[in-house]
Amino acid sequence: MKALVYHGPGQKSWDEVPDAKILQPSDVIVKMDATTICGTDLHILRGDVPAVTPGRILGHEGVGTITEVGGAVTTLKRGDQVILACISACGKCGFCKEGVYSHCQGEEGAPGIGWIFGHLIDGTQAEYVRVPYAENSVYKLPATVSPEQGVILSDILPTGHEIGVQYGKVKAGDVVAVVGAGPVGLASMTTAKLYGPSRIIAIDLDANRVDEAKKFGATDGIVASDPEWRDKVMAMTDGLGVDVAIEAVGIPQTFQMCLDVVRPAGTVANVGVHGQAVQLPLQDLWISNIAVTMGLVNTDTLGTLLKMVATRQLDPDVFISHRFALDDIMDAYEVFANAAETKALKVVLN
Ligand code: NAD
Ligand code: ZN
Repeated sequence: MKALVYHGPGQKSWDEVPDAKILQPSDVIVKMDATTICGTDLHILRGDVPAVTPGRILGHEGVGTITEVGGAVTTLKRGDQVILACISACGKCGFCKEGVYSHCQGEEGAPGIGWIFGHLIDGTQAEYVRVPYAENSVYKLPATVSPEQGVILSDILPTGHEIGVQYGKVKAGDVVAVVGAGPVGLASMTTAKLYGPSRIIAIDLDANRVDEAKKFGATDGIVASDPEWRDKVMAMTDGLGVDVAIEAVGIPQTFQMCLDVVRPAGTVANVGVHGQAVQLPLQDLWISNIAVTMGLVNTDTLGTLLKMVATRQLDPDVFISHRFALDDIMDAYEVFANAAETKALKVVLN
């Protein structure tokens, strides 16, 4: 079979590799119908995620059709079309029972971060994929949801929802600011809408993304280079600041921007993955009763979000900017990695 293989920092190629095969009774093999590229794949290619070692197949998002089923799998069968959660998790350990799939203690993806950080698991940018702990790690695709819509549920919709909106405790009437309007920030905006906030303010350096954010539920947009950006946020909140500030970039400056606009007793929900240390001014946070939350996506709300997609309360189509054949994945990476010029958001391969 063909797959996109990581060969160390800066290097990848579309190679002929051994076929995916069942290794454990809880596995299934899936023939990929649609997959996509994530910012995290670019982090891996830059060498930022050393847990992913050369020789590993990239990718952690996808929809496919089951072609083989392990002996212990009873709830899935050949021919089922399924969404692969970006976290594969045993469903049986203490953390899985609490829905903290990202810290599954099962041996396959230990410490439970499955597709994202490699370990023993090969990824989804391939013709076929082995899915460990299949019964807990895939979701049947309803007839009303297309494979490319399903791909958006593998990672970015649960990430924006769980780590941005739920950890941020967004509720009816809140003013929510989202710093960073990439796919993950946009996923936070579109899922925040489900909770009835009074305003969603999109803040990004890229004016095009600030504009695009309106399609995802942003009521207001501010370009981050505007010297009056903070005054504008304060003017929208009677000088108080926002109830919830969601950080969806992953650099110290944007974390600081969230601290600059959150109101007393508000929440900063950090979603971005920070490669550098961030200063936490505990004295200021303490005196203002500000909560700061963060974490790795669990995908424990994937099933709920899938129902919202199936009933058209969420629209994944707006995330998809480009489509390529799977064989042309090297070109797709070029388009995705140069988003400022290509205006790429999610690039689907099928
Ligand atoms: P992206 O790079 O596509 O988007 C980031 C956006 O931030 C871009 O639109 C960019 O213009 C904007 N930006 C950059 N610098 C800025 C600044 N100074 N001020 C305002 N805006 C600025 O990234 P993405 O794929 O949307 O992911 C966002 C973050 O979420 C990344 O750090 C990613 O690694 C992280 N992530 C976290 C999890 C998790 O489990 N917590 C899961 C997936 C992704
Ligand atoms: Zn991802």
